[in-house]
Amino acid sequence: MILHADADAFFASVEQRDDPRLRGRPMVVAHEVVACPSYEARALGIHAGMPLRQVKRRWPEVLVTAYRSEAYEEASALLFDLFRRFTPLVEPGSMEEAFLDVTGRDRGGVAGMAYALRAAARAEVGLPVSVGAGRTKLMAKLASRRAKPDGVVVVDAELEARVRPRLRLDELWGVGPTTYEKLHTAGLFVVSDLNDLTEDDLKRIVTTAMARRLLSIAHGTDDATIRLPGPRRSVSASRSLPATRSRSKVVAVLEECVGRAVARVASLDDPPRLPSRLEVFVRYDDGAQVLERGPLDGPSLDPEVLRGAAGQLLDRTGYEWDGRGVTMVGLTLPLPVSACTPTTGAAGSRASGS
Ligand SMILES: [Mg+2]
Repeated sequence: MILHADADAFFASVEQRDDPRLRGRPMVVAHEVVACPSYEARALGIHAGMPLRQVKRRWPEVLVTAYRSEAYEEASALLFDLFRRFTPLVEPGSMEEAFLDVTGRDRGGVAGMAYALRAAARAEVGLPVSVGAGRTKLMAKLASRRAKPDGVVVVDAELEARVRPRLRLDELWGVGPTTYEKLHTAGLFVVSDLNDLTEDDLKRIVTTAMARRLLSIAHGTDDATIRLPGPRRSVSASRSLPATRSRSKVVAVLEECVGRAVARVASLDDPPRLPSRLEVFVRYDDGAQVLERGPLDGPSLDPEVLRGAAGQLLDRTGYEWDGRGVTMVGLTLPLPVSACTPTTGAAGSRASGS
């Protein structure tokens, strides 16, 4: 069986966890536009992507907090540590949702495991996580959607047999408005409408890949395979700050980000993969972002070296003379695919071929 675990209103829930004054209140995490509304704000009709000005005008009672990427990254790391305690077969969907294959591990029944996962997320990470369970990834994801907020839904074989034929085609993830329009025009609305069609029939309406996917859903042979993520290709750290042009403030925040990024790179692999380039970005109070990238003198994870290089890239952005206020600063360390071994002695020459 597959579980789909998905944190509810993730950014907003992290803010409500960390600040009791926000709990139970309509609030949004926003910078110019709403990144994530709390469930209380959703009840008013507020959704992600709404301009913040519009929200403030229509709902003056709504509380607004800034985006704190470091808090979300930390919460995400805790959630994934928790997921991997239940099974090593974890496929991330985003920073706050994942598929877990718990086949053979669900001794207390899959429902027991789903409830245990939700309870552990609440107790250990302090966040509401909805959990759906199903035989395939599609079933698990539809189940977690139904479970929101803060619930558990299990689609067992009996329920799947009833639900699957009646699924609306526009509910299937991957079926966008254009595809749905074509299906709709052809008189196809729910999964059972596909039952008597061949691949050739469907290929006249949608792409070959979509035709195969739809037929696999109709036949119940859709994807149930967990794909493990490859090695991380980069590590980023950023922090928002009240709009400023003060050099000492911006540099201090960037240096703190360097420290966090270095610690994260060091925790990924042993020996750590060493970056040989870096990127620094600055976001201004009008939402515009400027990015500068450059090479290091050689592969290094020395915080002093990285602080120096990051400081030079920061200067190249010209933020001090720009006129706008800096509201976020951060950096990205791109990582080589395999560990970079210093080329000293036999070990180095052996490693170079891999
Ligand atoms: Mg979510």
